[in-house]
Amino acid sequence: MKIAEKLSAALKIRHSRGADYLAINISYEPLMKLTWFDANAWLWEAGGCRILVDPWLLGDLVFANSPWLVKGIRPQPVDIPPDIDLILLSQGLADHAHPETLGQLDKSIPVVASVDGAAIAKKLGYQSVTVAAHGEVNTLAGVEIRTFTGAVVGPTKRENAYVLTFLSTGIRLYYEPHGYPDVAHLQDFVENAGPVDVVISPMADITLMGVAPVIRGAAVATQIAKLLKPQVMLPTAEDGQVIYEGLLAPVLSRTGGAEELRSQIKIAGNGTQVIQPISGELIELDLQPQTVLP
Ligand SMILES: [Zn+2]
Repeated sequence: MKIAEKLSAALKIRHSRGADYLAINISYEPLMKLTWFDANAWLWEAGGCRILVDPWLLGDLVFANSPWLVKGIRPQPVDIPPDIDLILLSQGLADHAHPETLGQLDKSIPVVASVDGAAIAKKLGYQSVTVAAHGEVNTLAGVEIRTFTGAVVGPTKRENAYVLTFLSTGIRLYYEPHGYPDVAHLQDFVENAGPVDVVISPMADITLMGVAPVIRGAAVATQIAKLLKPQVMLPTAEDGQVIYEGLLAPVLSRTGGAEELRSQIKIAGNGTQVIQPISGELIELDLQPQTVLP
């Protein structure tokens, strides 16, 4: 939509009684609003739909009941955002399907999740849980959710990546939090359906003692930029205000990041804009969807 159309669509003319002037309020909604709450917790808003993603908003982050190993601490809890239409979980591990946070949310909110994430949501009493299998398409709350394979979490196990299409506007978003793109299927998708507008993917590598990669961001983010041709890319899986404690915390090392990626993308000649989110601050994206839906 052109600016002029946007203005006329949103133009509200209020006639002030007794006054000899017209008060004109001009406001318009950006196509997408994103808020990051550290780690992989996101609120995405588009086409009138509010999606809470991999929410860890309160309490500590502990894996396998072993806080001595690694424990993520939030200096202060995040207020649970109201009016959530959908909860989207990419993985079943606690940094994505955080039991304490999910326990506090309204169990009537529909959940779309990976197999492991869905098991946790069901156990906590969620009434509507959709298991998003690889290759599947689910449409809920005006959003088409296409599931791709995501992170490797075991010898044979892959978690989920998603491409969301907000059907009222056609704007598209890709999300995968560990840096494991499903290259062949994503390539097929872009060839058939067109590019993705917004990409949320890690941009830093987090390695354990410099050997085993935990999160692959630096190299993979450039590959994803070439593959999906997004207008905007944002990093996920960063610490923000979170502090890590425990045996493994000092050996988790981080390299790369949004700054480094920005220069790589420039070198690659891609027009993609890299935005570094600030924890809890709203990002408004006023984009023109790259693909027109039929
Ligand atoms: Zn994770």
